[in-house]
Amino acid sequence: MDDLAANLELVLSRISAAAAKAHRAPGDVQLIAVSKKQDAAKVRAVCDAGQAIFGESRVQEARAKIPLLPSAVRWQFIGHLQKNKIRHALPLFELFHSVDSLALAQDMERIAEEEGRRPRVLLEVNLAGEGSKIGFAPAALREQMEELLALSRLEIAGLMTLPPFAPEAEESRRYFVLLRELREELERECDVRLPELSMGMSNDYEVAIEEGATVVRVGTAIFGGR
Ligand SMILES: *Cc1c(COP(=O)(O)O)cnc(C)c1O
Repeated sequence: MDDLAANLELVLSRISAAAAKAHRAPGDVQLIAVSKKQDAAKVRAVCDAGQAIFGESRVQEARAKIPLLPSAVRWQFIGHLQKNKIRHALPLFELFHSVDSLALAQDMERIAEEEGRRPRVLLEVNLAGEGSKIGFAPAALREQMEELLALSRLEIAGLMTLPPFAPEAEESRRYFVLLRELREELERECDVRLPELSMGMSNDYEVAIEEGATVVRVGTAIFGGR
């Protein structure tokens, strides 16, 4: 398990270097270790190496794994949340990265009200416009933002994106710039603060940090392949 600690250390040092290059404090960028499809023993090794926050993309898998790990571990949800999983998911996760439609946000609002919860969420934006990809199209988000902000149970903390896969990190840069610019437009148009930008994965997190990421979601570079 030594290599997991070494992997984590390398990712953290690269985060610091990318932040320094962008004249940002290393503490401005939070690392989410994406533990989907990794067993509890590996998660524990990364946890023992000092990582506190993990990301899961399936509620069933997280429900099985979370009880096997120390209660101090913090969990965030990064996958597509199905309506019938919302009630189970609410108490498990401190942040939902991937609220990808107004309908999902409305379902979360209603169930959060019933359960007495105030979920912290990010809005997932589909910047590439691919038909198959989930997430708000930028124009739709600008139209629906007021309705989203009226959902009083949801604390909307920022935006998230998942660019199309590209072998070269530089190819993701324009999507990271677009997300930052969209955030600025929404903040201005809706008089709201959206401090969090969740963008960047194993292959492009340094570029994301240069473009303003406050949260990077890194799986493979820490855990190895899935
Ligand atoms: C799997 C996943 C990641 C991590 O991807 P890696 O390439 O393994 O770092 C990040 N974000 C989301 C939404 C994911 O589904």
